[in-house]
Formats: sequence, structure tokens, C-alpha cells
Amino acid sequence: MSHSLLSDANQRLEKALQYVAVDEDVAERLRFPKASLIVSIPVRMDNGTLRIFQGYRVRYDDSRGPTKGGVRYHPGVTLDEVQSLAFWMTFKCAVLNLPFGGAKGGITLNPKELSKFELERLTRGYVDAIADFIGPDVDIPAPDVYTNQMVMGWMMDQYSIIQRKITPAVVTGKPVSMGGSLGRETATAMGAFFVMQAALVRMKRNPKDTTVAVQGFGNAGATIAELLFSAGYKVVAVSDSKGGVFAAEGLDIPSLRHMKDSTRTLKAVYCKGTVCNQVEHTVITNAQLLELDVDILVPAALENQITAENGDRIQARYIFEVANGPITSEADTILETKGIQVFPDILVNAGGVTVSYFEWVQNRNGLYWTLEEVNDRLEKSITLEAERIWAIAQDLNISMRTAAYVHALNRLGDAIKAKGTRDYYIN
Ligand code: GLU
Repeated sequence: MSHSLLSDANQRLEKALQYVAVDEDVAERLRFPKASLIVSIPVRMDNGTLRIFQGYRVRYDDSRGPTKGGVRYHPGVTLDEVQSLAFWMTFKCAVLNLPFGGAKGGITLNPKELSKFELERLTRGYVDAIADFIGPDVDIPAPDVYTNQMVMGWMMDQYSIIQRKITPAVVTGKPVSMGGSLGRETATAMGAFFVMQAALVRMKRNPKDTTVAVQGFGNAGATIAELLFSAGYKVVAVSDSKGGVFAAEGLDIPSLRHMKDSTRTLKAVYCKGTVCNQVEHTVITNAQLLELDVDILVPAALENQITAENGDRIQARYIFEVANGPITSEADTILETKGIQVFPDILVNAGGVTVSYFEWVQNRNGLYWTLEEVNDRLEKSITLEAERIWAIAQDLNISMRTAAYVHALNRLGDAIKAKGTRDYYIN
């Protein structure tokens, strides 16, 4: 790939820099990742052969605290992608005012081709390889694309074995039985839902007259579709990595989810008890889903979905980025000209890392919160920051994305400046 994701991500920084009075030192610092680790992970496969997997962990910036970010298992993982995701985490944590910097990790593989035992050995091998690079006060991994609670549990266990002490705060998104937080699994979608609800009030719309298309039916995509359905929105299309379904009168999301969980396939069904029947629908591709004439489009899969190539054909009125980086910076300009309002990833999907922060706090205090407490705190902080970004956007007459970067940059700038200049003359 000749076009670097990181340079694309950096363009957002350059744009925002036009609107903030931060030192050139701060800007220069934020253009480069602090440290990038590449590791080879040997794994004994179930059939006795040895396979080496390539893994990464990038710590982008730690001016505001230990670095924080997920680990993804995906065939498309590259160093460039992980660096960009770590860049976004840096800004995301600053937007939510979390005392964290940004990081990301990944392993290049198709997790669907590995058995559960192979995945566990791979995960433990990855932790062995990055153990000196992470830690509760240094860098704290979490789930991301194709990783989940189970994988985080193995990571925490392996790290604790290496350290010879139980260290729950090294990883977030763990199973509740191992010190995970209530509400962490649904947090990304829940945060996005709170942002949407607040935005809907401003748009003077009501849910039942609002059509939505959701791309991606993983943890975040399926949960946001379900939350929107329960709140009365008309979810007319959803998709997974294989394709999607569309029904103008709206889909019954709990039925689709039940079907997907039990058969791993996405089908337009309506279930009564255990009996599921197909409903009238059209089979669509992921590309078609993005171009549907809907009020709200929710990309909740991977980055680079809306680009200079298809940007012109997007018809949605509003886009809420639940995935990280689904819109390229070139497409941003096209959408802006078309009057499509984009609510950016570093705000919309920040619910996940916010509850990760709550989990880390609970682990360090040894005192655990109720689900209501978690969700209340999440709602308060994400709607507060959404309002602040909205105000910056209005004040400076800029997009919500640039406003979110401006907001984050002010906080990052303060932290970098407060640290002094030592880093610039001592290695
Ligand atoms: N992977 C999630 C994200 O991209 C969560 C990160 C975390 O909880 O640290 O925001």
C-alpha cells in the first residue's frame, strides 16, 4: 500500500493545528510515535508444526499518562495501521480527559483459522514478547477487532505469571470474574448511543422517523444496532464481513443477533421464541450499505471504508464513526462539501476506552462499581465532551472532527509543555 494510513491520520492533526495556539515543539512531538515494537511469536500448532506470527505494539505518546489501547487480531494488521490506531488513541484519551496516552497492538493473522488452544498459545506468546513494553503504569492493552474478554483474560494471566503477582490493572476488558468491569463489553456502543441521543436532540429529530444503516456486526456494531432498535430507531440495514441485508420497514435486530450468535450467519429473520422465519429483505454488499439513502450511517467495522472513490455516492445525512478511521481525510472534504455531518471516531467510539479507564481504577482500588454507576459516569463524561466539541465547532465554524482534534490538542499541548524540555536534549 503506497498511501500510508499514518500520514492520512496526521493530516487531521495538521488541519487542527491551524486553529490552536500550541508550540511547534508540541506539534512536532505528536507527528511521530514514541516507540514501536515488532515481535515474532512462535506458536506450536495443534498438528505439531511450528508457525511464526508477526505482532506489534506501538506506544504513540505518554505525555498525559500510561499509554492505552486495544490489540487486534486481523489478516490486514501492519505496522502502519497499528501506528495510526495508536495515534487515534492518543487523541481519543485526550478528548475524554482520561489520564492516558495512546497505544495500539496487533497480530497479523486470521483468527478464524486457529483453534481456541492455538489462539491461547498465540496470545500468551504475544504477552511473553511484549511483557517489558507494557504494565499497569506504562501501557495497558484492551480488546479491539477480533479480540474479546477471553483473550484479555489470557493476557492478564500470562502477565501475572511473568511478574509472579496477580496484576489485573495491566489489561482491561477482562472477564468480570477476573476483575473486569461491569458494562465494559457494551461500553463502545453505549458511548456512541449517548452521543447520538444528545445529537438527535440538537437535530430536533425523533428516533422513530430516523432510519439507520450499520456496517459491521461485531461487538460494537451488533450492540449499537440493538440499542438503537430498542430506542425506537428504524434500523433498515446491517452487515457483517460477508455482506448485508436491507429491509425498508426496519429489521428486528434482537432476532438477527440471536441468529448470528447461534449460526454465525447474518440473516433477515423475525424470531418468536426459538422459531425464526425469514422476513422480506434485499441482500446487499457492504459497499451498497454505505451508499444507502438513510438518515444515519454507522460504520462499525474497519478503517478506510469511505474514500475518495465512493465519497460522492454517500447519501446519509449524518455519519457516526463507531469504527476507528472509517473515513479517509480526502473523503472528509467530499462529505463536508455535500453537507453530510460526521461525528468523529475519537469521540463517538470513546466509550470503550472510558470504561477501560473505569476498570483500571477499580482494579487499583480493589473496590468494584455497579452497572448503573459505570453507565452513569460514562454518560456524564461522554455527553459533556460532546457538548464541548460541539461548542468549539460552532465557535470556530469548523467540522466536529477538527473540533475534536482541537479539543484534544489543547489538553495534549498543556501536558507536553508542563513536562518541560528535558526530553528534547537527553536521550
Ligand atoms: N479498542 C478500543 C478502542 O479503539 C478500546 C481501547 C481500550 O479500551 O483501551 O478505543
